[in-house]
Amino acid sequence: MKQWKCTVCGYVHTGPEAPDKCPVCGADKSMFVEVTASDAVPEQAPVTGAKEVSARLPASSVITRLINKLHAHPITVHIPNGVIPVTVLFLAVAILYKSDSFAAASFYNLTVVLLAMPVVLFTGYVEWNTKYQGSLSLFFITKISCGIVVFISAVVLFAWRAMDSNVTTGPDRYLFFLLHLIMLAAAAIAGHLGAKLVFKD
Ligand SMILES: [Zn+2]
Repeated sequence: MKQWKCTVCGYVHTGPEAPDKCPVCGADKSMFVEVTASDAVPEQAPVTGAKEVSARLPASSVITRLINKLHAHPITVHIPNGVIPVTVLFLAVAILYKSDSFAAASFYNLTVVLLAMPVVLFTGYVEWNTKYQGSLSLFFITKISCGIVVFISAVVLFAWRAMDSNVTTGPDRYLFFLLHLIMLAAAAIAGHLGAKLVFKD
């Protein structure tokens, strides 16, 4: 049986011909190349494009390689993806029980999210640019947009709470909570898409 590899995300399809669309990243059939027996399927999927990028970013090429080799993006995304649900949970308790301590705890968690996001976005950008050739398939547009939504909501919520420490008891508390939910949803979608890239199922 023949094997076909998506040059965008590295997904390998087994069958007489390449699928019309990559089930992982949504890339077109034309993006698939046949994997022949002699190709010891290269670990670092697509070689073309990666070179162009390192030519474009010569100063950071060592960093780029390290980021991909150490899987810096999948590792760092676990900070916001683990901490955001705690942030939201503590905020819910703070609003329900008018608890200042839970409101403060939620805010400190949010601060951790905010601090982690630049690293998450940078490592994600590097990996997308090198491993996936900066593909602008719907898959990556969605994933990147979600990452940006998480970052922007974290900035807005941080600034909001910093300027108004009584927001969790004030009239805007539900709006404040809603924006937290949007941040959580965006993080969940980005995480789900990232898992598809990693686990390919
Ligand atoms: Zn793909």
